[in-house]
Amino acid sequence: MSRTKTWENNPWTIGIATTVLGFILTVLRDINKENPIFTTLGEGFQAIYRLAIKFFMTDVKIWIIITTLILLFIIRQILKSLKTKPKKIGFDFKSYVTDNFKEYNWHWKWRFDPISDHYVVDGIFPECKQCNTRLLVKDYYQYYYCPRCEEEYRNLSINTLKDIEGLINDNLDKKKSQFERIQN
Ligand SMILES: [Zn+2]
Repeated sequence: MSRTKTWENNPWTIGIATTVLGFILTVLRDINKENPIFTTLGEGFQAIYRLAIKFFMTDVKIWIIITTLILLFIIRQILKSLKTKPKKIGFDFKSYVTDNFKEYNWHWKWRFDPISDHYVVDGIFPECKQCNTRLLVKDYYQYYYCPRCEEEYRNLSINTLKDIEGLINDNLDKKKSQFERIQN
């Protein structure tokens, strides 16, 4: 009894036995291909083989599907960005809120006018040439002055604002037509 136990527990015996068993099973599988005597055993092997193939193929298929989906998503995003980018550049007039006209820096806002159904220039003001402070009108809108450095700009009046508004709108029209040329 004890001898059998020792023989069974020997790692060499286990190793050899496993190898031999594996060899026998392989031989049986090969024989089964030609001889249907080992049908039951062969079916077991075939099932394992089919399962392995199925698993492998399924795994590959999932990988292909995921990759395809990712690629499609990336392509879609690229096409999307290509479509939307020029639009933003062309019609992003709201970011056009400052420019230099008649040697002065001007600032303004865009206000939506519901009557004309358009955005219009609003709150135009010039900057002080000396300290870049927002200029204020003085003496009933006759001229501008700087509240910080007290510099007076007698050549500027609210009448100038009409010219500046005209220049802003003209620049916007030019930017728009330039954009349309790029689009076409
Ligand atoms: Zn100033």
